[in-house]
Amino acid sequence: MKYCEIFVKSALVRSKLEYTDFALNPYRGCEHQCVYCYSPYVMHLPLEEWKNKVYIKVNLPTVLNQEIRRKSGFISIGTVTDAYQPAEKKYEITRKSLEVLLKKNMPISILTKSNLILRDMDLIKKFQEAHIGVTITTLDEELRRKMEPNAAPIDARFSVLDNFKSKAITYAFIGPIIPQYTTDYLEDIIRKLAKLKVKYVIFDRFRWKKDMQLPRYLESKLDKIEISQMDIKVRAAYLSRKYGLRYSILW
Ligand code: SF4
Repeated sequence: MKYCEIFVKSALVRSKLEYTDFALNPYRGCEHQCVYCYSPYVMHLPLEEWKNKVYIKVNLPTVLNQEIRRKSGFISIGTVTDAYQPAEKKYEITRKSLEVLLKKNMPISILTKSNLILRDMDLIKKFQEAHIGVTITTLDEELRRKMEPNAAPIDARFSVLDNFKSKAITYAFIGPIIPQYTTDYLEDIIRKLAKLKVKYVIFDRFRWKKDMQLPRYLESKLDKIEISQMDIKVRAAYLSRKYGLRYSILW
């Protein structure tokens, strides 16, 4: 993995995401290397570069500190890359950004596939409104390793929700929903999330992007996706209601 330190001119980016005013991304590129990642296609960056070279925005906390004097609103951290990918262990750009945001106690949301976020619980628990979410795509750890090789194991992600349940508003992002890989475990995932008392669940479908390069095993599963989209939606809604979870379906 190649790390490349860069200096940025701005930190907060206006966001079109629901309930979000600004997005904050401490890194560019993502070493979690999820095989279904569509961020490089959105960012117009070569896939190999996205996977193997992480740009570290070293001055981000300083720039952010200036920007929050005139900007405020709901901030989603890690919208196109994971703010707690392994680089964060060394560089702590996310942690330093949280320290800055805490000065104004801005409402935040962080979605991650890493349990490194537990390191920053001391800061996160001080926010008046902090939404902490993890992504779950399957309960099969072997499949998880295949699809999300450098992200945290599934149990470690559930443990993030468990640890934060009394300190933040916890949620889960179930997506991309892949026939069989996700759907076979949907009820077990939702039951587990209800047990962990998450406040809400977000479901998302697989998002095709032009020129997307996917491994064959995944492509063959996704071939079935068009016929099963409606079934998936109905099941997701039914199971969420069954286990008393608030939910939203993004398609
Ligand atoms: S964690 Fe998110 S940004 Fe990183 S590779 Fe996976 S899908 Fe892409």
